[in-house]
Amino acid sequence: MSRQEEFVLRTVEDREVRFIRLWFTDVLGGLKSVAVVPAELEGAFSEGIGFDGSSVEGLSRVYEADMVLKPDPSTFSLLPWRGEKEPTGRMFCDINVPGGEPAQADPRNVLKRTLAKAAEKGFSFYVHPEIEFYLFKTDNLDPGTGILEGTKPIPVDTAGYFDHVNGGTANDFRRSAVTMLEAMGLSVEFSHHEAGPGQNEIDLRYADALTMADNIMTFRSVIKEVAISQGVYASFMPKPLNDHPGSGMHTHVSLFEGENNAFFEPGAMYQLSKTGRQFIAGLLTHAAELTAVTNQHVNSYKRLWTGHEAPSYISWGHRNRSALVRVPQYNSGKSSSARIEYRALDSSANPYLSYALMLAAGLKGIEEGYELPEEAEDNVWQLSDTERRAMGIQALPTSLSHALEIMEQSDLVAETLGEEVFDFFLRNKRREWNDYRAQVTPFELSKHFTSM
Ligand code: MG
Ligand code: MG
Repeated sequence: MSRQEEFVLRTVEDREVRFIRLWFTDVLGGLKSVAVVPAELEGAFSEGIGFDGSSVEGLSRVYEADMVLKPDPSTFSLLPWRGEKEPTGRMFCDINVPGGEPAQADPRNVLKRTLAKAAEKGFSFYVHPEIEFYLFKTDNLDPGTGILEGTKPIPVDTAGYFDHVNGGTANDFRRSAVTMLEAMGLSVEFSHHEAGPGQNEIDLRYADALTMADNIMTFRSVIKEVAISQGVYASFMPKPLNDHPGSGMHTHVSLFEGENNAFFEPGAMYQLSKTGRQFIAGLLTHAAELTAVTNQHVNSYKRLWTGHEAPSYISWGHRNRSALVRVPQYNSGKSSSARIEYRALDSSANPYLSYALMLAAGLKGIEEGYELPEEAEDNVWQLSDTERRAMGIQALPTSLSHALEIMEQSDLVAETLGEEVFDFFLRNKRREWNDYRAQVTPFELSKHFTSM
């Protein structure tokens, strides 16, 4: 038994933990949980806990449904919302097939495989996300089902970007949320009101990509729990309101070689090294292929294509917020803070798969020595199509269907996700598109019903 496993067992005993929830994530980014009692824990560490994977989205084909959860003791934490008395703990799990091999379709494993490839080249991958979400009133949610009655969610306030709302729900909310996140070992860097009414943003302090993907799953649970406790509803939907910004999950990334930030070169343009430039070139070259995963819902494309500082075109820039990739102004020119920001992701993305693909695209840029195109200094939304064409600026996919057509042709995405996840994802998302396509929407009825 490892030292970490011993530590978990001892903590469970000392704190009189009543249940331990084993968490894992399905291919679409849904959090799954099974609770075990402390007596099962030793066996869970040595042999794992068997479960039927066939009913978990994307996990296994029916004929190889037996799966084994192996808890990762380094992720042990108590769940603060379950209280101090007879507390509940949780650990993230890897998923194995019987016999001990990692399950190809486990998103955590997809990210681990990609991180291992980066490690072969001497790189570790650090990320920090800016996570946006909305808080809505629960007045028009059905108390039984939680389903929205009518078609318009009602935000909890009418405040805007960085607004300080005296006595507002959002202040209390962020205060409780940050406290709870910290109690679970997640460091928060900033939190503020975002531009939309009821919209908030919390930025997590950077961590290695695997830890961060776990942290994002924890984050979503914590935010939902705090919302419930305050009688409001938290939504990570990419674009819940027609006339207000969507919720992005811009992610800042950097590669380290040992202690050194591989993106940093003093004196270079924006202090950005050749490796950094090639990484951006990789992201730009493959951006359209990754989009079905970083923006995985029909609704995601309504965020990308209605302005409000979400990117629509494949370009990079420095201060330019219309760019897909931004090289932020480094606070102090400090090496450790050299990074680039990828702005396509939305708050509903599967963080494991998205980070694996972003890393794979960036590494490809380095391997192949891709040239970085000119930066876009203008607001690319305001250029005409002809101007954009002349500058070689292409568009991100315009719909889920378009994104899937591009993803399907991508060797990079197929290789990174592995065949099982790749096939499942395309199949599942085509179904989402077909279901959507079959709907007669309120838009069409209001526009055409009486005029035709
Ligand atoms: Mg923001
Ligand atoms: Mg940002």
